Amino acid sequence: MRRTKIIATLGPATDDLTVLTRLIAAGVDAVRLNFSHGTADDHSTRVAHIRRIAAEQKRIISIIADLQGPKIRIGGFKKGSLVLKDNDLFTFDASLADDAGTAHSVGLTYKDLPKDVKADDTLLVDDGRLSFKVLDVKGAQIHCHVINGGTISDHKGINRLGGGLSAESFTAKDKEDMRIALSLDVDYIAISFPRSAEDILAARKHIAAMKGHAAVIAKIERREALDHIDGIIEASDAIMVARGDLGVEIGDAALPAIQKQLISQARAKNKVVITATQMMESMIHSPIPTRAEVMDVANAVLDGTDAVMLSAETSNGDDPVRVVEAMSRICLGAEQHPRTQVSHHRLDKKFSHTDEAIAMAAMYTANHLSPKAIVCLTESGATTLWMSRIRSGIVILGLSPHMKSLRKMALYRGVVPIHFSMVHEDLDHIERHALHYLLQHDFLKTGDTVILTKGQRIGVLGGTNTMQILVVPN
Ligand code: PGA
Ligand code: MN
Repeated sequence: MRRTKIIATLGPATDDLTVLTRLIAAGVDAVRLNFSHGTADDHSTRVAHIRRIAAEQKRIISIIADLQGPKIRIGGFKKGSLVLKDNDLFTFDASLADDAGTAHSVGLTYKDLPKDVKADDTLLVDDGRLSFKVLDVKGAQIHCHVINGGTISDHKGINRLGGGLSAESFTAKDKEDMRIALSLDVDYIAISFPRSAEDILAARKHIAAMKGHAAVIAKIERREALDHIDGIIEASDAIMVARGDLGVEIGDAALPAIQKQLISQARAKNKVVITATQMMESMIHSPIPTRAEVMDVANAVLDGTDAVMLSAETSNGDDPVRVVEAMSRICLGAEQHPRTQVSHHRLDKKFSHTDEAIAMAAMYTANHLSPKAIVCLTESGATTLWMSRIRSGIVILGLSPHMKSLRKMALYRGVVPIHFSMVHEDLDHIERHALHYLLQHDFLKTGDTVILTKGQRIGVLGGTNTMQILVVPN
């Protein structure tokens, strides 16, 4: 069983139903709808297909809606694209019409950019492939000198090295897309380019006003976000190490240390963490990953990430199923490393909730007794989240009657969400029913030792207060 979860971005390359069916069968745990592309119809069709395939394969698949945010872009070119040479002079001109770009200047979709930059700043286009030094800013025009030239084409993203752009992180389009996403009952909503906890709290207010229930993922992709990281993590249910934009803003050399720090901070605060972007980039076209990509995915697993994410590798790749198979294999390999299986996490901490204390006791016992599994009877999945923050080689079987809780749990490292109806069950015998159910469904065998946690009253959130060590009967 693989502990690290795999998120696949859906797109034109996964729309074929046979591909999508095989993609889920290959072990995808969550899918991402990228609201930077596609129509409301595309997204709702994809959600309907995913729900149907998940039901057919008896799998719990989480759905993430990723809102575009203020993608700060250049305008278009008369010819679509052209080549800029090193040392050319080039102007970003907010007053230029959208398709009027030439070898000398191009428009901007983000009209405030000239207010946010000054002489000597570095601007990066197309995830840093081209770079520019600002010579001066006159009104709507940013005059630059090309440092690293190359092909520049319509509507590529533009960032300022060091961050500091004033663009709001929640746009009118995001609000509309959020409404669509909530109407599709997605499980997580990812907020792009948040600067501080306020941006996340504002998104939560919108979700509540729309009577939605989605959990919130903060994409860490601005330099400013790092200055407010504690507050952002606390305000969110999960964070994404969004290495594409973040790497452009802070420089690639700073990324590895930041990734490790973000993963450990999220785990320490009892939050989920996703590692994203270019993990298997060469497999958009290649049948095998580079050794560097193998090491990158494995490294994220060793860092303790809950999930690894695929973007264009699945949404626009030549063979999305093969990428998921390769990623799954690499995660499984990395999880053999002893470092992923032991933990000193919070050994010296006091606990504030009963269910938290039980979760920690269960993990401590699991890591020393080596049972076959931890069986967690849970309403909201909160106990499984606490458990999964502890490194362990023991599988956590999260049994809940609520599909919404189960789909959130699909992102938690080491947790297998299992639908199990607890209503009408005689509470004194519920563990017997649960073990019987797991036996019938091949999760356990007769004679297996398990640790089981549950609450005294079913239906109560945060009510877990009991831990037992049991042997599976026949
Ligand atoms: P994106 O976010 O794919 O929506 O740009 C991820 C990243 O920036 O890494
Ligand atoms: Mn991004």
